[in-house]
Amino acid sequence: MDYSTLYSQCALCPNNCSVNRNAGQTGRCAQTSEIRVAWSGLHRGEEPPVTGEKGSGMIFFCGCPLHCQYCQNYQISQRGWDGVALTETELADLMLELQAFGAASINLVTGTHYIPSIINALIDAKARGLALPVVWNSSGYESVEALRLIDPYIDLYLIDVKTLSCDVASRFCGLSAYAKAIVPVMRFLRRRHPVTDLEHGLKGTLVRHLVFPGCINATVDFLKWYADNLNDCCLLSLMVQFVPPKEDPGFPKISKAEYDMLLDLVDELGIDGFVQETSDNEILWIPDFRRDQPFPEGFADPLPFFLNIKESKSQS
Ligand code: SF4
Repeated sequence: MDYSTLYSQCALCPNNCSVNRNAGQTGRCAQTSEIRVAWSGLHRGEEPPVTGEKGSGMIFFCGCPLHCQYCQNYQISQRGWDGVALTETELADLMLELQAFGAASINLVTGTHYIPSIINALIDAKARGLALPVVWNSSGYESVEALRLIDPYIDLYLIDVKTLSCDVASRFCGLSAYAKAIVPVMRFLRRRHPVTDLEHGLKGTLVRHLVFPGCINATVDFLKWYADNLNDCCLLSLMVQFVPPKEDPGFPKISKAEYDMLLDLVDELGIDGFVQETSDNEILWIPDFRRDQPFPEGFADPLPFFLNIKESKSQS
């Protein structure tokens, strides 16, 4: 199949913009079909099984179909940070270089709008010896049809279920449609990946849910839904590293009592997975992609191959 034709009338995500990205048009994700990567390297801030010993092999793509007002990666998702343009062959090279650099996994961050190119790169990299588990790290805002195409190449889904409330989705994600669109995606993953077993390799679905301050009831509703629908086939990662919106830095923080109540509910519902510690230093988690090393000291190692390609393309 010629996957690149999927860019011609783009419906890779539920925004269904129908633009011709092969002809340079852009939709809500603001990207043509040219692959743009913001950063690549090893990162040790992911959930322990994904991180492994040396770190997960991250590939951060530029652009995003969602416009979450709290996005930690807003420089690359919404601020038009260009990153480095790569061909599909160079993207496959990047994956192989991450493997040689000691990565525990290939971690594709927000690749929704590049699914056709990523499939081609994965086919190429696997033919040339890529043996690492491949992690699809996304908002979950993909069309089920697009997900079905890339699914055979993915081992572990690290997928957000941000909220099931249209009001909360509208307020935090800029799109009420997210709350409805995530449900068929999770239904699809449930059918395709009925077991998550991180002790014997990275397989299955790890659901990430970030608690939004001031919306504890939305998290309570989500946890109950998760327990009824996903608990037997997924693991949960409950996160609390909310970054206040830039235009509203005084946004209320979730209190310890509220978080403790949620943790009690997780126990009560028999939900298995990971929970994040509360911290006063959320600011530390915000990467600065203008730097070669965007993350806090000790958390990440840039991939020399990526820095070299970035340097050589900036000079040409
Ligand atoms: S990936 Fe989504 S947001 Fe981007 S052009 Fe396609 S349908 Fe629109």
